[in-house]
Amino acid sequence: MAEEAEKETVTFEDFKLNKQLLNAIEEAGYEKPTPIQEQAIPLIMAGHDILGIAQTGTGKTAAFLLPLLMKIKYAQGQHPRALIIAPTRELVMQIEENITLLAKYTDVRHTAIYGGLGPKTQIEILNKGIDIIVATPKRLMELYFKGELILKDLKTLILDEADKMMDMGFMPQIRQLLEVIPRKRQNLLFSATMPDKVVELSEEFLEFPTRVEVTPQATPVETVTHVLYQVPNLRTKIELLEHLIQDAETFNRVIIFTRSKKNAESVSKFLEHRNYGEVRAIHGNKGQNTRINSMEAFKGGEVRFLVATDVASRGIDVTMVSHVINFDVPLIYEDYVHRIGRTGRAENIGAAITFATEAEMYHVHKIEEIIRMKIQQVPKPEEVKEFKTPFEEQQEMARDIDRQKRRENPDFKGAFHEKKSRHKSNFEKGKKSGDPKNSFWQKTKKKGNRKK
Ligand code: AMP
Repeated sequence: MAEEAEKETVTFEDFKLNKQLLNAIEEAGYEKPTPIQEQAIPLIMAGHDILGIAQTGTGKTAAFLLPLLMKIKYAQGQHPRALIIAPTRELVMQIEENITLLAKYTDVRHTAIYGGLGPKTQIEILNKGIDIIVATPKRLMELYFKGELILKDLKTLILDEADKMMDMGFMPQIRQLLEVIPRKRQNLLFSATMPDKVVELSEEFLEFPTRVEVTPQATPVETVTHVLYQVPNLRTKIELLEHLIQDAETFNRVIIFTRSKKNAESVSKFLEHRNYGEVRAIHGNKGQNTRINSMEAFKGGEVRFLVATDVASRGIDVTMVSHVINFDVPLIYEDYVHRIGRTGRAENIGAAITFATEAEMYHVHKIEEIIRMKIQQVPKPEEVKEFKTPFEEQQEMARDIDRQKRRENPDFKGAFHEKKSRHKSNFEKGKKSGDPKNSFWQKTKKKGNRKK
């Protein structure tokens, strides 16, 4: 079963993306395409117009950016060949961040254009030559009518969050734009919902579109209980994990899901080091055979802990999993449903435990909307020591929270400005203090053998 599931998995390589993009994807930590990416990428690459119905948290941004970057390939000419329109400054900045991430190994020139600050710098950037523009509708048209923007080379137009764009009254600007750009082009429209106004817009805007739709799988298994611990930081997460698994009888077959390969490696090394029982890690860097062997050993009961990234969440077909622990909250929200679907299988009782920092609570609420239920929050056991959050981790979380607030309310003025360099937490950096070899994972005193 597991073998079959593995074989069916579509990979990013299957899309015939170039090496530069595959390397960036690898570095971003994306291990497998999400359902919207699986459906939309081949169609967009084949040149179709697309009507994409997908919410945030489905990976929709990369679904249109990867084929776009394949098409744009490298810096060329003076005027933009692609235009991405989004309703808010925050979304524009977020899309641009995604381009920076994915176009890292190309020389593609891109910029974000939005209101709220003077256009001078934006104009200077445009004058140097540009390939992709991400913009809010108003500022874009202002620059166009000032004669600062030449759109004659445009080959691709993308409208993101079209429903929000209609709600915010941007139809006049979109109409103006459609009148002044070349007719022969590829059009992509993404929207979370399809109210009449968006249907109308799509009819005006798209030519024989192919519709791709993902509705996140929303029904978790009923026999599973869900609980949530809010913890201040990573160090406390590991402390809590260690506390919970002391009860070896209850926590007898546990899958621990992490957001990145690095976290999966760190958690599994930590558990191994402390001798709490057999541990295996499965993620994208492990070969297929290793993954299958680990899964079999876990299935057979020889392995107590399986530490996995979401690459494996659909392929794990093991009954009698006592607990699924979400060490990190997944950013692809539907993965929550897949993760917890690994417990409570075949009518067995299961438990899903989620650890969330303050910054991750935003995503927990989004997940709750999708699964249409509240995840019960329980207080952290008193015995679990609360560690102070290291400065860099604190900064990273504060920045995340700012971004989330701005996303919900474009007028929110955060404490952090995007221009400040972004620090990664040591843990995420891995190589330095996050490396299992020299971090607290190892520094903590080795405890006795606690195998059952
Ligand atoms: P979006 O729905 O485009 O807002 O993406 C939601 C989050 O998922 C973002 O943080 C992306 O960086 C991340 N993401 C996009 N594609 C993938 C993937 N294939 N695997 C894991 N994470 C992804």
